[in-house]
Amino acid sequence: MYCLQNTRLKIYRYISVLNYRIFYFFKLTSLSIKKHNHSVAVIFLEKLIQDHTMSKTGYKLIHHGARHSVTGSCHELQLRGGSGLLIDCGLFQGREAGEQLEVNFAVDHLCGLVLTHVHIDHVGRLPYLLAAGFKGPIYCSQPTAMLLPTVLEDALKISFTRERRKIRHFLEIIENQLHPLEYNNWHLIDTKAKDSLEIRLQPAGHILGSAYLECRIKTSTGQSARILFSGDLGAPYAPLLPAPKPPYGADLVVLESTYGNRQHESRKERKEKLQRMIELALQDRGVILIPAFSIGRTQELLYEIEELIHRNRQRFAARNLPWEELEIILDSPLASRFTKLYRELQPFWDAEAKGTLKRGRKPLAFEQLTTIDNHQDHLHTVDYLKRKARPCIVIAASGMCSGGRIVNYLKAMIGDPRTDILFSGYQASGTPGRAIQKYGHRGGYVILDDKRYDIRARIHTISGYSAHADQRNLVNFIKRMRKTPQHVRLVHGESDAQQVLRKQLEQLVITVD
Ligand SMILES: [Zn+2]
Repeated sequence: MYCLQNTRLKIYRYISVLNYRIFYFFKLTSLSIKKHNHSVAVIFLEKLIQDHTMSKTGYKLIHHGARHSVTGSCHELQLRGGSGLLIDCGLFQGREAGEQLEVNFAVDHLCGLVLTHVHIDHVGRLPYLLAAGFKGPIYCSQPTAMLLPTVLEDALKISFTRERRKIRHFLEIIENQLHPLEYNNWHLIDTKAKDSLEIRLQPAGHILGSAYLECRIKTSTGQSARILFSGDLGAPYAPLLPAPKPPYGADLVVLESTYGNRQHESRKERKEKLQRMIELALQDRGVILIPAFSIGRTQELLYEIEELIHRNRQRFAARNLPWEELEIILDSPLASRFTKLYRELQPFWDAEAKGTLKRGRKPLAFEQLTTIDNHQDHLHTVDYLKRKARPCIVIAASGMCSGGRIVNYLKAMIGDPRTDILFSGYQASGTPGRAIQKYGHRGGYVILDDKRYDIRARIHTISGYSAHADQRNLVNFIKRMRKTPQHVRLVHGESDAQQVLRKQLEQLVITVD
């Protein structure tokens, strides 16, 4: 019996490998043709590959963004009969921002959109999707539904209009299409096709409301398949968030790979490193600038800094500066609004954070925290800190220094050797953040608003607050599934990261592409 099963398994593996050799043959052929600009032939071959997959499995995957890059996440699960479920509709950023903004794919056949979380590289093309005529339901977790209007309002103000009436109208449309789902409950999708599709959201531990998506397909001809879209996965032990639990199993996992070639420090290590870095940086009584995404990382950092202040309340952070008197300036109206929403979403916090609340502390609203809303106050603060170099920590968006109030702080203080800049998140290629991180150590420069600024500030990086799983976490996500997937498709990562992660996963899974 064992021998028979073993032989079956071997045959199955052989067939799978053979199928993927055929797949790669088509893929390579299509690539070589692409070089000669025979785009019609390329489209034909790609369609042939997808149709081949569809006939075998009852579904096919199409990627409208973030296949081999980290922004613009947008994937489509298409069923027989042409119905499609869209997973995320994110904006391209950094160097990838040159990609088409508009939604350049058909939307009439879509039976719904699932948003895995509210980061702009997962939801930012939503206005364009609606403009293209998408009227279907938008599924997401309950916290995501609460956070989404604020994210979109900001995105609309930046790229569409500042007219309140138009923004309100757009948000009303979104609200009517929103279908918040509870975690861990299957939901049947109306596909208008013979085949059935159910979806389920599970906590992904990335930011509040983040989810990975499980899809269950049953075809009218008796085929069944489980496809999992990881969205962005968080690292275990992220502040505030329950750790993601590995799913039971899937046939195919569409897996993010942002940090496929990196290992983060543990939470304990990075908290100690954050403390040492703050104490060192404050010795020369300069300012610590932390560029941070308004949502997720800002709240995680505030949570950790409050913990450091509480733990070290009897100690000095620097000469004449007790930890208890260290000022934290949150200079981002958007980050302040999200911090407020995070406070309202306390039922979704993890047990540790709920315990801190029970002990009477306010991790996201502590007394050393000053928030700056109005623009005039912001300009005054930049000017004041530039002149006085008062020791304090400033958290401001954007996380990659490509806009927002952090740019004014950088312009004013990046040339001052007393300044310290702390990167706590991923810096996409082509962003000022990446340039500062890469060239800051070697006395380089950065271009901000078309002007060159020499970097004299000290540059630090702490990984792990980025809220993305690292290589070990990604491999464990697959390894700890009770039913190992046969196929993993890597998305949302640069090619170096994907190559390294692929090698690791190939030891566990039949095919990784
Ligand atoms: Zn994200």
